[in-house]
Formats: sequence, C-alpha cells, structure tokens
Amino acid sequence: MSYLDTLKDKRIAVLGLGVSGLGTVRFLHAHGLEPVLIDSREQVPTRVWLDSQVPQLERRFGSLADAHLSDFDLILIGPGLALSTPEVKEAISAGVEVIGDVELFARINTKPVLAVTGSNGKSTVVSLLANVLEFGGLHVGLGGNIGTAVLDLLAQDADAYVLELSSFQLETTSSLQAKAACILNLCEDHMDRYDDMNGYIAAKQRIYKGCELAVFNAHDEDTTPADTQSQISFGLDNADYHVMLHQGEAYFAYQNTPILACSKTFLPGTHNRLNILAVMALCHEFAFDAGIFERALQEFKGLDHRCQYVDTRAGVRYFNDSKATNVGATIAAISGLSQEPGKLILIAGGDAKGADLSGLKQPLGDFVDELICLGKDGAAIAQLKAGSHQVKTMAEAVSLAKSLAHSGDIVLLAPACASLDMYPNYMVRGNDFAQHVQEEQS
Ligand code: ADP
Repeated sequence: MSYLDTLKDKRIAVLGLGVSGLGTVRFLHAHGLEPVLIDSREQVPTRVWLDSQVPQLERRFGSLADAHLSDFDLILIGPGLALSTPEVKEAISAGVEVIGDVELFARINTKPVLAVTGSNGKSTVVSLLANVLEFGGLHVGLGGNIGTAVLDLLAQDADAYVLELSSFQLETTSSLQAKAACILNLCEDHMDRYDDMNGYIAAKQRIYKGCELAVFNAHDEDTTPADTQSQISFGLDNADYHVMLHQGEAYFAYQNTPILACSKTFLPGTHNRLNILAVMALCHEFAFDAGIFERALQEFKGLDHRCQYVDTRAGVRYFNDSKATNVGATIAAISGLSQEPGKLILIAGGDAKGADLSGLKQPLGDFVDELICLGKDGAAIAQLKAGSHQVKTMAEAVSLAKSLAHSGDIVLLAPACASLDMYPNYMVRGNDFAQHVQEEQS
C-alpha cells in the first residue's frame, strides 16, 4: 500500500493557503483526498482558485483558535506558519501529526534527491547543479523554494530532483534522506521567526538527516553535520573541494588534483567560486569528468539580480546584486569584487528587517571606497563608514555613483536590506538600478 493510500481514511487539513498551500491542496485533490482548508486570514490570496476548483472543500478561515486543529489526524502546514504557533503546538500535543509539503513529497518520492540550503547562494547553486546534472545526462526536476512546488515535481518524469530548501521548509521535514545534502553557509537571517541563531541553525541542520553524503562549508562551523555520516567539505582552501594554483593559474580542485581553471566561469566573486565548489562536491558520487563542469559553467551566466553584470559605461562596470537582502550577501559581494582593480562604489540600504548591521562595518572599511546609502535604514548603514553619502532615490544614487566613478572602477548595488520600503520586491529594485545606469547622464 502506498503512503497516499494510507491517507484515504485520515482527517486531513491544509493550514496556510498561500502559494505552496495551494500546491498541496491541488496535489491532494488530484489524488482523491479532500482536506479541510484552514487559514488565519479571512481573505486568502489564493481564493479565486479555491472558489473555482475546489468549492466543495470545507473552509475554516479566520481565528485559528476557532479552527479546532485537534480535529485532524494530519495537518499539512505551509512554510509561512511556525510550529511554535500556540494553536499548532496544542494540536501537536493532542497527537496530531503536523508536516510540510516537502515531508509529504519525501514520503512519496522514490527518485534520488539532491538538496541545498543555506543563508545565501541557494538559488545559484541549485540552478547550476541542475545544469551540470543535465549535461551529465540526467533528466532533472528543479524545485522547492525556487520555482516549482515540490509536490508538482512528482508529476515530472525526472531521473533525480534538485531541491532548494528554506529553514521554514526544513522545520517540518524529517524523511528526506537525500542522496547528497548541503548547507552552503549560515549568517543571521529571519531572526523575526527564530528565538536565536541556534534555532535557525537547528532547522537548517535537518537537511542532513538520513542523507547519503553531507556536503558542508569547511570555513563555517555551523554547517558541519552533527552526525558522523559520510561527509565532504568545500572551501577556498583546507577543504576536499578547494581552489589551488596550478601552472600559475587558479583551479577548482579535489584534494590537490586540479579539475578546471577558475577562468572557465562567468560568475564573478569568490563567493561564486565557493558556490561552484559546492556544486562539484554535491556531484561527487557521480564522478563527472571536467568537461561536464566546463560545459555547464560556459552555459551558466548566473541568475538575474545576483551580482549580475549590467553594463560598462565610460569604462565603469556596473553590477546589480539587488538580491543581497542580508548582511552576509553584501559582504560576499563586496569582498568578492574587491579583488578587481579600480575603486569599488557601493549603493546600499533599504529595510534591514531589524538585523544587526554592525558586521558590515569592517568590510565597508576594507573593501569599499565610496558608500552611497538610501532607504529606511540607509542612515544606519551610512553611520558605519566615515564620509559616506545619503540620498533619497535610486536615480540620485546612480547619478552620484556616476559622478564619483572613473574608468576602471566598479559600481555595485548590494543593499544588505530588503526592498519593501521603496519597491514591491528586489527585482523591481534591481531593474530600477539597471535602468538608471543605462540612462544618459544629464
Ligand atoms: P538564496 O537563494 O539563498 O537567496 P541566491 O543565489 O538567490 O541565494 O543569492 C542571494 C544573494 O546572496 C545574492 O546577493 C548573491 O550575490 C549572494 N550570494 C550568492 N552566493 C553566495 C555565497 N556563497 N555566500 C554569500 N553570498 C552569496
């Protein structure tokens, strides 16, 4: 009997009807299961679809206290709701099983899974990893926190799945048993959801549970797997997958054996070298030859808004890293680009989501020549570096950057903040930056 068959006689609820909750409803419904729909909001964003496709399903919208969560055998909870929500805790104590969509996926899936989490670089790594595996001859389904919801992946005819997983998704996942699993790095993020850093780390560490190969960052202790399962590390040096000098040139290498020249990638910055090393380590068991990595890297130009090259104007190169929404991502971008010749002019600021920004102080001093700040927390960032500039709009920021830059310099947008104080999302912010870069200076 399949796991889905065992659910036929169970009382099931889907709690949280955002995009991933809707994916869960669609999946259950397609398999003949009729969950009760629960959300603390009276108006859910997916209402139109629910009204038209599953009008017959019982709904309990509004206060969770009135939703009687203990009525159920199984609750599928969305990543937007914490397990520590009082009503959810109460239901768990009453014996209700509470899992997320990734856990449901794991209980049904029979194909190999490669899973990646971390504070920064997840989307870049899973996209490149999927590319490499495709060049290696595997048909890959890519999803999770990026693109397709995991349950929708099950309908794809894939040889393997590559999953990007957030800490929220991992909190409710325990049976993944990935072929290879990786925590890329850990820095403070989502502190509005966790009591402290330990809670965040513990959620991320769940990715290693039952995996065949744990891939970790040799220079980030919190990524080290707690159990003594088979493990392999990556890092610029002192790691299994590392960078070495070979015939005067930097190479990606495995235990001092060069694999491929670092010059074969279009991805800028040392943080992207780490991402590539992580991909190589995740592919360890496949024993691909260097040609496969080379072809995948030649094709992969990076994702939009992640240290994305925009243009060269009057000899000045412009990069859009609008997705740098936390301190760690900005530090990675500025330290990576600081290796380049010329001055580094940084545009930063936005909504820091209450994060501690002090970690930026030293890297701003070490790597950044001119700092231009904007947005809600722009003043707080400006305070971290003497002689910095404050402006009100992106237009002003770019215009000032243009006037400060000379041929050979770099202008980088890497805000260390969310965009929501000024834009609908980081993509609109990045596009606004690029548009002003491409406008002629008046
Ligand atoms: P995620 O999916 O984890 O948000 P992305 O690949 O979308 O990761 O990149 C998010 C931000 O993190 C971008 O600003 C990017 O430049 C930066 N970044 C990418 N890789 C790393 C890394 N290995 N370490 C630190 N920052 C990184």
